Amino acid sequence: MSEKPFRVLPRVTPQNQHFWCGGAEGKLQFLRCGPCGSYVHPPAPVCGKCLSKDLTPTAVSGRATVATFTLNHQPWVPAADHPYVVAIVEIEEQPDVRLMTNIVGCPPEAVHIGMAVAVEFEEHEDVWIPVFAPVDA
Ligand SMILES: [Zn+2]
Repeated sequence: MSEKPFRVLPRVTPQNQHFWCGGAEGKLQFLRCGPCGSYVHPPAPVCGKCLSKDLTPTAVSGRATVATFTLNHQPWVPAADHPYVVAIVEIEEQPDVRLMTNIVGCPPEAVHIGMAVAVEFEEHEDVWIPVFAPVDA
């Protein structure tokens, strides 16, 4: 096991708990609107598409596509490895649900736009940070 990278951990609230703690069960979860079926992220009290408040945490496949990325060479946190890949990925179920994340499990220079990735979780205390690794084609 390698050392886990340093993370500034999110504050878990009742509104985002499904997202940050779903990894305990290996699930990437988003609020899903009952009436229209849209996924809502970041967590909000109403659906942005139909304004319904009927939102339920729902697991998705965890598959996603890299929409854009950058190599971070800047030592923002002294303990982190450099460079590392900061990416925005679009989930398979709904491409307008985008996550800012890190791409792991491959050399930074192998990451490209359109790359198929799948979620993995990095456990830190009581938070499971979703990160994404390449899917073997
Ligand atoms: Zn809706």
